[in-house]
Amino acid sequence: QNDLFKKLVAHCKEYGFIYQSSEIYDGLSAVYDYGPYGVELKNNLKDYWWKSMVQMHDNIVGLDSAIFMHPKTWKASGHVDAFNDPLIDNKDSKRRFRADVLIEEHMEKIEGKIDKEITKARKRFGDDFDEAMYRETNPRVSGYVKELSEIEARLGAAMSNSDLADLKQMIEDLDITDPDTGSRNWTEVRQFNLMFSTQLGNIAGAEGKLYLRPETAQGIFVNFLNVQKTTRQKLPFGIAQIGKAFRNEIVARQFIFRMREFEQMEMQYFIKPGEQMKWYEYWKETRLKWHLALGTPKEMLRFHDHGENLAHYADAAADIQFNFPFGFKELEGIHSRTDFDLGAHQELSGKKLQFFDPETKESYVPYVLETSIGCDRMFLATMSQALQEETVTGANGKESTREVLKLHPALSPIKCAILPLKRNDERLVNMARDIFNNLRLSFNVQYDDTGSIGKLYRRQDAIGTPFCVTVDFEALDDQTVTLRDRDTLEQERVHVDQLEEIIRKRVDM
Ligand code: ATP
Repeated sequence: QNDLFKKLVAHCKEYGFIYQSSEIYDGLSAVYDYGPYGVELKNNLKDYWWKSMVQMHDNIVGLDSAIFMHPKTWKASGHVDAFNDPLIDNKDSKRRFRADVLIEEHMEKIEGKIDKEITKARKRFGDDFDEAMYRETNPRVSGYVKELSEIEARLGAAMSNSDLADLKQMIEDLDITDPDTGSRNWTEVRQFNLMFSTQLGNIAGAEGKLYLRPETAQGIFVNFLNVQKTTRQKLPFGIAQIGKAFRNEIVARQFIFRMREFEQMEMQYFIKPGEQMKWYEYWKETRLKWHLALGTPKEMLRFHDHGENLAHYADAAADIQFNFPFGFKELEGIHSRTDFDLGAHQELSGKKLQFFDPETKESYVPYVLETSIGCDRMFLATMSQALQEETVTGANGKESTREVLKLHPALSPIKCAILPLKRNDERLVNMARDIFNNLRLSFNVQYDDTGSIGKLYRRQDAIGTPFCVTVDFEALDDQTVTLRDRDTLEQERVHVDQLEEIIRKRVDM
């Protein structure tokens, strides 16, 4: 499982899906950049969500609200007072927790060094590179690996014995300084709000204190009446939004699972009070179907009911969990938020946030049913089930392994690659270029002549391209090309005029 996860992280980097932010400066912890294929996949995920939410529902409309909001927003939502890490309860456990975080961050740095060495070596040795072997035999890397496992063992022992003295000793031995205080003395731990703050213009002090939004939902709540009036919606209706959110997560590990800057796809459904259980069940089911429609096997998903353990704003909540390489974890939340948010904003702003029901001639604060999914977590879930290693038998009968991303074709960054059999034959190149120029009007396609066909196929498999078209000499005579299917590896001869239709059938949702 751990190996699978490491492989996934390495694959994301090697094939231009995800890079660590500011890598040349040794990276910024829990912040990531999406590379050329990553951004395509992520956009496709967002597109699929947007279409199924906004385009396919008469009564759901979109919104793109600003990241900065009036500071009172976060007072009303409860984030200023309640958005602290709940693990921190008493002084000793605070200290233990802080020490654990510092040591884990130190370990992350060592892991970063190992990754750097591995990436360099992979580049140097190419296809023959054996990572496991290199970890054991390269003196520098094996040194880091040993150091890591020693720290891990010692940390594990100290944490399970609640041994503060040993943790303190470890911090000294490892020469760790607390980035927050600049000292090695971590006896005073501040209560830690998860919101990032900044200052508005030159207004000093609390007056000008702005927060980077920790969720997109509040932008929807404060616009509830604007949207309802301008789109003349009746209840129930929904507002959907995709956008960045920021949380200063204390323990931010596991790649893009827990980031400090991430993206959410949220939908707030405004309903009549009393109808929340009906809509709660409806959206649980609807959202599960959305995941299944992408081809995610049922057994990889499950509901986790929050039971009595509810956030301050909710009267019912469930997560859709996905079986990540490190186990079942939250991918999406479905929350019955009652009238908590609209009620709180109404009170603090002094403005009515009510719906006037023309049938009953009553005004009331609607209840809200929320579906909230992290775009990056969805990306991770998608990649982790798509990445597969297969043994294939070549035309010469030789067995080899291929890394293939079995993405749903609708999500694939590139829908079809067009490859001339020989790059130094002008006629093949021209014909391939023509096909490429024609198909690019409909799909994101790629022309590539930078290697042997076998190599080019392998590269397209690794980025999840469902189709490859090869232009050979026969094509010059009869206008037929070889169409190769990523999953079945079947190759069929098709006329160039058929390509668009064949591809469209597979890549449309
Ligand atoms: P967790 O319990 O994992 O911290 P949460 O319950 O705080 O998540 P919500 O506040 O319900 O999460 O946010 C909705 C969704 O946003 C989550 O289901 C998740 O997909 C995503 N999300 C939340 N925090 C992060 C993060 N730090 N990095 C990436 N995605 C996140």
